[in-house]
Formats: sequence, structure tokens, C-alpha cells
Amino acid sequence: MAFDIEMIKAVYGNYPTRIAAARKAVGRPLTLTEKILYAHLTQGAATEAYQRGGSYVDFNPDRVAMQDATAQMALLQFMQAGRDKVAVPSTVHCDHLIQAEIGADADLQKAKDKNREVYDFLASVSNKYGIGFWKPGAGIIHQVVLENYAFPGGMMIGTDSHTPNAGGLGMIAIGVGGADACDVMAGLPWELKFPKLIGVRLTGRLSGWTSAKDVILKVAGILTVKGGTGAVVEYFGEGARSLSATGKGTICNMGAEIGATTSIFGYDEKSEAYLRGTDRAEIADMANAIKEHLTGDSEVYAHPEKYFDQVIDINLSELEPHINGPFTPDLAWPLSKFAQAVKENGWPAKLEVGLIGSCTNSSYEDISRAASLAQQAVDKKLIAKSEYTITPGSEQVRFTVERDGFLGVFEKMGGVVLANACGPCIGQWARHGAEKQEKNSIITSFNRNFAKRADGNPNTHAFVASPEIVTAMAISGDLTFNPVTDTLINEEGKAVKLDEPKGLELPAKGFAVEDAGYQAPAADGSKVQVIVDPKSDRLQLLAPFPAWEGTDLKGLKLLIKAKGKCTTDHISMAGPWLRFRGHLDNISNNMLIGAVNAYNGETNKVKNQLGGGYGEVPAVQRQYKAHGIGSIVVGDENYGEGSSREHAAMEPRFLGVRAILVKSFARIHETNLKKQGMLALTFANPADYDLIQEDDSIDILGLTDFTPGKALTVVLHHADGSKNEIKVNHTYNEGQIGWFRAGSALNLIKASI
Ligand code: SF4
Repeated sequence: MAFDIEMIKAVYGNYPTRIAAARKAVGRPLTLTEKILYAHLTQGAATEAYQRGGSYVDFNPDRVAMQDATAQMALLQFMQAGRDKVAVPSTVHCDHLIQAEIGADADLQKAKDKNREVYDFLASVSNKYGIGFWKPGAGIIHQVVLENYAFPGGMMIGTDSHTPNAGGLGMIAIGVGGADACDVMAGLPWELKFPKLIGVRLTGRLSGWTSAKDVILKVAGILTVKGGTGAVVEYFGEGARSLSATGKGTICNMGAEIGATTSIFGYDEKSEAYLRGTDRAEIADMANAIKEHLTGDSEVYAHPEKYFDQVIDINLSELEPHINGPFTPDLAWPLSKFAQAVKENGWPAKLEVGLIGSCTNSSYEDISRAASLAQQAVDKKLIAKSEYTITPGSEQVRFTVERDGFLGVFEKMGGVVLANACGPCIGQWARHGAEKQEKNSIITSFNRNFAKRADGNPNTHAFVASPEIVTAMAISGDLTFNPVTDTLINEEGKAVKLDEPKGLELPAKGFAVEDAGYQAPAADGSKVQVIVDPKSDRLQLLAPFPAWEGTDLKGLKLLIKAKGKCTTDHISMAGPWLRFRGHLDNISNNMLIGAVNAYNGETNKVKNQLGGGYGEVPAVQRQYKAHGIGSIVVGDENYGEGSSREHAAMEPRFLGVRAILVKSFARIHETNLKKQGMLALTFANPADYDLIQEDDSIDILGLTDFTPGKALTVVLHHADGSKNEIKVNHTYNEGQIGWFRAGSALNLIKASI
């Protein structure tokens, strides 16, 4: 599991010269975010200042991390790149496919049986290509990364939206799609729009019932779920330095809920203590040697208004515990106002289940503080009124908190310890009775609480809070309970009060683990066989997409003209389709089934131009494919917004769609389409969208002279014999035109070896 010390040495070795060059290029003091970004430019030392929120810049991340649901397609693609080994240290973490039902051991065994072929595939491909493999049960990606791989001043990408968790240890860590991970593992640069910067100045100090989680719950209330979009949130100030590294991780983790690119804290004594506590003294020593580069310049923090795009002030001494929800993580309630909100809104006050842990809140500090309350429940003869579950974030944390007696305390309180995995946080929860869809309340220490996320029941009101508040609420069984002011009646009929939670940031006896669940890759993977059963319905090896035929595209059938919002969820739905994330043919059966057909206002019902009738989108497209006929998809504004899921680009490519023509694209999806060798085009005149008719056959002309900045021509042949000729734009640069010609970016990478 060893971190790559040589890589970190190389990164730190560059810091002094690269930061000096960046300061010169920018012409002013630097924030921490800018230091790390400029230190990771693909071009080396900076020669120009980039425009925040404007410039697209190439970076060389230091690491890649993948979770098991997204790793499948990322690695299937990587296998196409023709490389012997990954270019940067990379890891796979088996955490998303374990369903919580009975308890840790039984659930883990069941998941191993059910997902065996996926795990075997991920293990063998990791072994072959030099990727560290964390087995099912080893823990949740972000906790394992924080404990083992995150380092101050580093830059990583991860195929999961809560990758920013590593910002707690001073790393720029960003969630991406599998295609981006594949590129970086293949040694290509990674492009990012230079982010805007939001500064959060923390003053004061946490005390009593308030914890680090409450900082981000408060920030989410201020910024809302969209407020961080395109920005990095940088925390600083004496309050920031007072927080434990894992507490900082919690705050950065949940920055994903405000849409932030990532969040980050500077290197300080707490970071150093955590590095030493997790057996990484060598990194702490190296970081100490360049520590002035691992935090923002003092002038920046003295006058943040001059250097950040937005500044938020939070005084930790005055911060109340918060409870956010239901149904959205930005509906923030200070604890003192929550009971009233529950009553006024008619939310179910009876609390059914309290769930602690997950990647967001399962540090030693979190567990020890929650356990101090569980111990009080036992001592004060209180019986927990709600069900209560504990999800440790890693085997190292689980083993240590078991050794220190905390799990035993939870069990005495009636708690159930679940596997070290995502479980209920990602809907992998076989919750008894959820299918009845009854209105009910749960409270978790997780990060997301959208409808149906935990148990599939749209009427489950899910609230988010710190593990301490979740535990107190589970003991009381009542959402209107305020542990700061209220008493509870115990088994003897006496009124008792819970004392403030107490815990330790790091275990006094140090962390311990018997089997962390790590499998190192083979030193020479050339002989390793990658196991994929050709009969599998979950995994399928990819075949390269065909190269461009060298001519204009003529006679394309209109597959669908989508109206209104068409996100990556509309193009490639999640939910039950998750199980096919590693099987392109099978998952293609969800292609565009959520898109609204502009001609009939219905979803998944389009005209079949070969047979006249109407059919489901994937089925109609498969017919066109079977007849060797290409097709085109037309869309509205901001087509492909949402996640960076590459399936939304791969599916149409796989089924024979040749072009996506829209009023405008969400940029990541546009890039994903280009990478897969598709034509991503926009109407030069958006009103031409209205010219497209349901029976159109369409030509795309000008491809033999496909040039950056030069419009292409589209001819619409209508069923009545008339036609329209329109101009369409594109944003392909020379390199991307190369991807189109080769059939995909991967084909080109492979050809370059
Ligand atoms: Fe994502 Fe939840 Fe798993 Fe964290 S615990 S990685 S938020 S699914």
C-alpha cells in the first residue's frame, strides 16, 4: 500500500522554482490553490497568468483513484490504450457494490459472491497494469486515500465526486469521469478550466456539540448546491488550523454538495500529526522542509478580499450544530431552530434510523465522539429509540475502534456495524419495508440526502448532521430533541441529560490493522491474464471504434430531436443500470431513454424511419446500425449537463450515432463526445433547431476539410422533397480533429506507441 515517496520527492523538488515562476507570472502573492495548480502545469514552470473561470489549462496530476463502479469502464478503456503500465500511481477501491442488510460479515460475503466477476476483473487488470487494488471490505475510497495516499501540495483526480476529501490534507483532489482517469493513467495531460476561488476564513474554535461537519453544513446553507460551481473553496485562518486533518477532510468531502471543483486546507501542525499518526513521518518531514509553499501567502490571508472572488467568514466559537435537509443538503437548520422547522413543515418527528460513518464522517475522532454518547446512553440507562448503524470508512479505522472498545459500546446501545463500504449512502441498503414508500425520517452523518438516495423510498426524509448529533437523535428517537437543552427519560423514569461529546483526534495507542485489504500489483504484469467471461452480462471487453471513413457523412437518419433538459442522466440513466457500467452493449439499452422527444413530448418513443412506426430509442438505433445507416441526435441548450459519465458519449458512439447537433453543450460532455470520435456540433443559428423535421435524412458536409474554427454544412432533406442547408459550428482543435479521424482519442494514443 506504500505511498510513492519518489513521486512526492519529485513534486516537492519542483515547488520552489515553480512557485517563484507562478508568482512572477501572476504578479502578486498566491493562494494555496494557485500554488498547487501552477506547480502541476503540464508545460512546467508558468510563463503566463491564467484567467480564473476562463482559461483551459493542462495539468499533470500526481495520482488517480477509482471506485469499483466507475473503475470498470475507466479500466476497460485503459486496456485499449496499449500501455504496459499506468503512468502515475493509481488505485482501485471496492466499496460501492456492497449492500447493507444484516451486518458487516454477512453483507461482505454476499457482495463477494454476487460481484465476483467484477472484483476478479478489477483485481486482475490492476495486477497487470501496476494499479494498487483495495479489496471489498478494505474501506471507502476517500477514507483509504486520506489514510494512505493524500499528501500536502499534491494533485489527484478520482472517478468519484467526493474525491475532494483529500483536500483535508492539503491536496487538490478533483472528481472526474472514467475517460479522464484513463487519459491520466495513459500519461496524457488533464485539462481543467482554471477555477475561481472562494475563501472561507475560519476564526474562533469549536467546542461542545459543534464539530467540523457543522462548518460545511453552514457553508452549504450559505452557498447552496450551486454556489461553488467552477470554484475551489480554500479555508484558512486560526480556526482552520485548530481543526483536525480528518475534520478538514469532512469539510472538503462535502464541498461536492455545493458544486465546488474541490476544497482545500493548508498544511499545518494538524496535518503533520495526521501524517505521523498514519505512518507517514517521511512525508511530514519533507512537507516541513517546504511548508511555506504548502499554504497560501500570508498577504493573501491578511487581505483575502483582494485575492479571492468571494470571501465567507465563519466564527467557530459561535457556530451551532446544524442539521440539513430534507431532500437537499443546503437546507441548513441551526440545531436551536430545527425542532420548530420539523413541526412547522410536518416532517415526521419520529426518527426511524440514525446512520453514522461513510467516507464523510468515520474518522477516529468522529467514532470516538459518537461512542462517548453511546457510552452515556448505556451508563444513564437510556435505550436508543431508533435503529442505529455504524459504517466504518476503512478497515484500519474499524480495527482500531474495535480494539479501543468503541464498537462494543455501540453494540451495547443496539447499534449494528455495517461493512467498511458505501452501503446505505449510495442506496445499497436492503432497508426492510422501504418498498411500502411510507413517509418517515432518517438522519445520517453522510453527505447527500436527495430523495430515494439511501433506500429508494421517495418519502424518506433524510437529514444530514454530524455523527454526534445523529447519535444523540438516535438515542432520543425524536427529531425535535435538542441534546444541548433537553432531557430524556431513562428506563428508571428519571430525567437525564446527555453531556457534551468527547473524543480524540488520533488514537492514543496509534492505529492498528491486521489485514488492511490491500493487494499490490505484480512487479511485471506482462504475463497476467485479465479475466472477462465472454458470456458475462456485466463486463465486456471493448473493441476499438472504427476510424472515420474519410468522406462526408450522408443520409444520416434523425434518431431523436430532444427537447429541453437533456442531462447525462437522461442520456445514460443510473439506478438499475449501474450494474451494467462495465458492459457497453448492455448499458447501451438505456441510451437516451430519458430524453423528451420534441415531436410527441414523450420519452423513449421515436419514429423508426425504416419501418414508419414508433419504437424505443435504443431499439430503433440498433435497427439503423444493423442496416449500416448512421444517425444523428439533435438537442437543445446545455446538452449533456450533469455528471462526467463517459457512458453518455460511448453509448451513442457504440450504437452508430455519428453526430450530436445541439444549441449548446455542457463542456465536459462535449469533450467526452470528441474523445469517443463523435461529431459534437452546435447550430450557428440556434433557431435552425426548428428546421429539423421528424423524417429528415441529414448530410454533414465539409469533413474532408475539417479545420479548427471553420464551420461545417448540414443539409436537411425533408420527407416532402424540400431541403434546408444550415451552418453548424464546432470547437475541435487540431488534436481533437485527430481523435475524430482516428475514431477515438484512445485509437490515437494507441497508434502513437
Ligand atoms: Fe460516495 Fe457515499 Fe461512498 Fe462516500 S460513502 S464514496 S459519498 S457513495
